Amino acid sequence: MKTINVVQVASEMVPFAKTGGLADVCGALPLALEKLGQDVIIVMPGYKAVHNLKQPAVKRLNEGISISRIGKNINVYFIDNDEYFNRDSLYGEKTGDYKDNLDRFSYFCRKALELLKELGFKADIIHCHDWQSALIPIYLKTLYAEDDFYKDTKTIFTIHNIGYQGLFPKAEFPKLGLSWNVFNMEMLEYFDKINILKGGIVFSDLINTVSETYSKEIQTSQFGFGMEGVLNKRRDSVFGIINGLDYSIWDPSRDKKIFQTYSFKNIKDKYANKDQLQQISKLPVKRTVPLLGIVSRLAEQKGFDILSEGIDAICKMDLQLIILGTGDLKYHQILEQMVKKYPKVISLSLKFDDTLAHRIYAGADIFLMPSKYEPCGLGQMISLRYGTLPLVFKTGGLADTVNEKNGFVFDKYSKDELIKTIKKAIKVYKDKIQWNELMLRGMKLNFSWAESAKKYIELYERAKGK
Ligand code: ADP
Repeated sequence: MKTINVVQVASEMVPFAKTGGLADVCGALPLALEKLGQDVIIVMPGYKAVHNLKQPAVKRLNEGISISRIGKNINVYFIDNDEYFNRDSLYGEKTGDYKDNLDRFSYFCRKALELLKELGFKADIIHCHDWQSALIPIYLKTLYAEDDFYKDTKTIFTIHNIGYQGLFPKAEFPKLGLSWNVFNMEMLEYFDKINILKGGIVFSDLINTVSETYSKEIQTSQFGFGMEGVLNKRRDSVFGIINGLDYSIWDPSRDKKIFQTYSFKNIKDKYANKDQLQQISKLPVKRTVPLLGIVSRLAEQKGFDILSEGIDAICKMDLQLIILGTGDLKYHQILEQMVKKYPKVISLSLKFDDTLAHRIYAGADIFLMPSKYEPCGLGQMISLRYGTLPLVFKTGGLADTVNEKNGFVFDKYSKDELIKTIKKAIKVYKDKIQWNELMLRGMKLNFSWAESAKKYIELYERAKGK
C-alpha cells in the first residue's frame, strides 16, 4: 500500500486534552494509521492542560508552536496563543461557551495551514474533526484556492456530533477574513447566522460520521439539526465509519486504574471491583444487588431528560446507581436531590475523573446509556469489554453495537420504556447463567481501531481520486 500523508486537525485528543469521545478518537486513529504504514502528523491547540502535562513531554518549537510526539514517530504540533488557549477549559465554562470561540478557532485553523507550509509537509489529506477545525476546508477552497502548496491536498471532514455546529452572529463574519460571497444559504449562512459546520460540509472533499446508522440519521430532519438538506445534497460524499476503541487504554486485563484486573477467563475477579467501587461510593457493599453505572456528559442528548423523569421510580427498584459526569446545571440539581432522598441507592460524582470512570466501567454490572441520539458512543463499547452490560436506546452507534445478545435495547424513547428495560435487565441479572453468557459474548467482541483505520485509508484514497 502506498503511504498517504495525513494531517489530523482536532480541538482535543488523548493524552493531551479531553472533554469527550472526540479526544479518544483523535488520540487513537493516528496510532492505528501509523501501524498501517501511513505518515501522520497532528495539529491541535496548545491549551493550558497541554503545557501542564508531564508525560509525554511538550516542548516549545518556536514562537507560537510547541511539539510533542506519540506512537513511534507521530509529531503533534500545538498552536499556542496565551490569550486564546491558556485557559482552564477547552470551550467554555459553566456559564456557557467562551465568547471569543470564533476568534480562537479561526486563529487555530489559519495557523494550522501556515504551519504545514512552514514545515513543508505536503499533505495528501487534511482530516478535520468537528466545527472547530471546519474552517480548514473552507479556507483551502477560498483563501488558498490558488496556492500551489495545497494544490494536491484533499480534505475529509468528520462529524462527531452534529448538535454542535459553531453558530456565531453575522456581525462576527469579518473576523474570518473571508469574502461575503460565501455568506449565503448554500454555504456558511444559517438563518442569518454564521454556521461553521455547514461550511465544513459544503467545502470539504468528503464527509463522514462515526457510525453507519448516524450517517443516515443526520440526513433526516429528526437528527439533522437543520443540516439534513445540505447533507442530502452531498449524499454521495457522506460515509459512516464506526469508531474503534483503544484497547491499550480500555482493557480490564491490564488496566492499572481499576482495583483488580480480570478478563473473560477469570470473570469472578470483576466482582472485587464491584465491592471496592461500592465502598468508595459509600453504597452498601452487596454483590446480589445489580449496580448500574453512568459515565457521561449530563446533557439531554445523553438521555438525561427521560432519566430524570424516571429517576424516582428507578431509585425505588432493587438496584444501586453510580453516576459520574458534569454538564447541565439542571441535571446536577435533580440528581443532587435524589442523592439526598436515596443515599443508599445513588452515588453521584459531579466531576471529570478518568480513574473513577475506569473503576465504574469495571465495577458496575449494567452501563446505562439511554442517549436520545448517539453518533457512535464509546461508553457502550468500553463497558462491553469490561463485562458490564450496556442498556441503551436504539440509535446511531448504539444501534450498531448493542443488541439483545450482548445488552439491553429499547426502541421507543420514553421514560416508561427506559424503566421497563431496567426492570427486564434486573430480572435477567438474577439468572447467573444467562447473565454470564451475555457478559462473555460482549467481552469477546472486538471494536479495535485496526478495521476502522483501514476504512479511513479507503476514504483517504477515495478523496485523493477526487
Ligand atoms: P461524548 O458524546 O461525550 O463524546 P462518548 O461516549 O463518545 O460521548 O465518549 C465519552 C468519553 O468521555 C468516554 O471515554 C467516557 O468514558 C469519557 N467521559 C465522559 N464523562 C466523563 C467524566 N465525567 N469523567 C471521566 N470520563 C468521562
